[in-house]
Amino acid sequence: MGTKFTGSTVFALLALALGIGIFAVDMFSPLGGAIAVLYTFCIILLTRAGRTGIVALGGVIAALAAMIAFLAGHWGEAVGAAHVRLGVSLAAIGATTILSYGILSTRKLCSEQANILALTHDSVIVLDRHDRVAGWNEGAAHIYGWSAEEAIGRAYDDLIALDAPREAAKQRLEQSGALTEEMSGTGKDGAPFTVSTRMVRRRNLAGAPDGLIEASIDLSEQRRADAARRASENRYRAIFNAAGFAAWETDWTGVRQLLETIAPDGEDLQAHLLANPDLLRKVAATPHIHEANQAAAALFGVADRSELIGKNVIARYPETNGLALATLFARLAGGEDLVEVETRINNLKGKPIDVVLRVRLVPEGEPWSRVLIMAIDMTERNEDRARLERNMVELAHASRVSILGQLAASIAHEVNQPLSAIMTYAKSARRWLKRETPDLDEVANCIERIDANSERAGAIITRVRTLARKGSAQIEAISLAELVGEALALVDREACAARIAIRTDIEPPDIRIAADRVQIQQILVNLIMNAIHASAGTGPAGDILVTASKDAEGMARIEVADRGSGIVGIEPHALFDAFYTTKPDGMGMGLSISRSIVEAHGGRISAANNPEGGATISFTIPVAL
Ligand code: ADP
Repeated sequence: MGTKFTGSTVFALLALALGIGIFAVDMFSPLGGAIAVLYTFCIILLTRAGRTGIVALGGVIAALAAMIAFLAGHWGEAVGAAHVRLGVSLAAIGATTILSYGILSTRKLCSEQANILALTHDSVIVLDRHDRVAGWNEGAAHIYGWSAEEAIGRAYDDLIALDAPREAAKQRLEQSGALTEEMSGTGKDGAPFTVSTRMVRRRNLAGAPDGLIEASIDLSEQRRADAARRASENRYRAIFNAAGFAAWETDWTGVRQLLETIAPDGEDLQAHLLANPDLLRKVAATPHIHEANQAAAALFGVADRSELIGKNVIARYPETNGLALATLFARLAGGEDLVEVETRINNLKGKPIDVVLRVRLVPEGEPWSRVLIMAIDMTERNEDRARLERNMVELAHASRVSILGQLAASIAHEVNQPLSAIMTYAKSARRWLKRETPDLDEVANCIERIDANSERAGAIITRVRTLARKGSAQIEAISLAELVGEALALVDREACAARIAIRTDIEPPDIRIAADRVQIQQILVNLIMNAIHASAGTGPAGDILVTASKDAEGMARIEVADRGSGIVGIEPHALFDAFYTTKPDGMGMGLSISRSIVEAHGGRISAANNPEGGATISFTIPVAL
């Protein structure tokens, strides 16, 4: 088994051997300490071993050895030449140790720096005075393609072909001593590169120029990334500008800062903003547009998008429309980065527009510094919807008036009955009064009956007037039993004339629905009238049953079942199509309107034939809470 000696071990052993030799001579020769100065050679040898710790230890041991040898030979002597020699030797040992220690420390630092240079991604090339490569780090190998082994010793021009002549750069370097330049060219196998290079002149010990050092940063990647970013930005701009919907960009850092001061302790920001409309408007007025597309210009009533730059559009909302913006700000402050709200704002010409705002915080730069807002114009859609609702109200009204027309005879009869009674009681009261001794008790009785009958007539007229009324829906809690009762009072005579009995079964009897009274009454009258028409001529077996109950989903279910003709020739759901009628004077609008009303209340309506004959029309309406 052989022992392997490294260079440093050899130098350390040599130093040890030399040290022992010097010590022996010093101890046993008559030289009187003069030889101790030779310990400095031991320290120089230890320096070659390359470790600062060993050098320091060697210095201490050498000094001790010199002192031991001195004491052994000169103990008790008066101070003389021998002491001076020891002093000189110790001073030489000390100075050599300190110098060697310093050299080793500097060498260590240099080698660390060399390692850093070798490791850095930037390229570092050292050239001698003939422009031949003397140093070539990993970064240079990465950028130019040549390895250090391939490059060292070769001429710079053999390795790198620059696009611009290098001589001009070198001349400028001559004038200034250091130079930073952007250079491009090709390296190994013609691979292109673009670098930012800093050149520095090297000088020899005499200060004469001695080649140069080139440190370069690779710009190719950065250039590629820049180009890709520019292309993507251009694509984004193109889409942004050509988009068919309005879009604009603003910086909302100011909005964010303001919101942070408003509700710093996580208070309910939305409630706070709603309670302070001035504050809300101030927040909304903070940002200004710095980019907008042509569709945004059209939406806000200006000819060109440039007219929107620097303007604020979201703060131009009518007094009553704060909720949407308060919601928007609160949700963004709550951490959402995409919020959609529908609101009404005034365009730059003061015209109100209904818009859906889609607000997106672009995750770039400072938070909220880039906010992209897209707006979809809902004005037309909302106007169409309002027009449709108005038409619907008109149509329903027309249909009610038409039903009242059909019921005119019944209504006249209904009103006539109390009126005739009133006349009869009036006559009889007059007779009681004209008697020799007027019977005042009978007169009072007559007047009471007149009163009751006039109330009855008044109630009928009120019901008719309610149905004839035109107005928008008013949702309230209504007792179903009451509603069915009122509808029956209107159709009672029609049913009597057709010899049809109408029975009701409302379970539980106190069900209340959340609905518009007139509209539901219109449906009930319509369904019962249809049932009477379908049952006409079927005799007592054709009774109609009106039932009401609560279904599993918490809705009130109302059914009108008859034993009439049933639905023949078409699918039951087709009854609800507008203008479907089998009656010579029918409009075919009753069931279609009923369906619209039911659906507007959030319910459903359906028709089916009964197994035992006849049809049942059922609908659901939300129960009042
Ligand atoms: P109209 O009463 O003017 O015809 P509706 O929309 O109320 O309009 O009714 C449409 C058609 O549906 C009626 O003409 C009738 O043919 C049919 N229909 C409605 N209710 C019933 C019913 N209970 N049984 C059989 N057919 C019915």
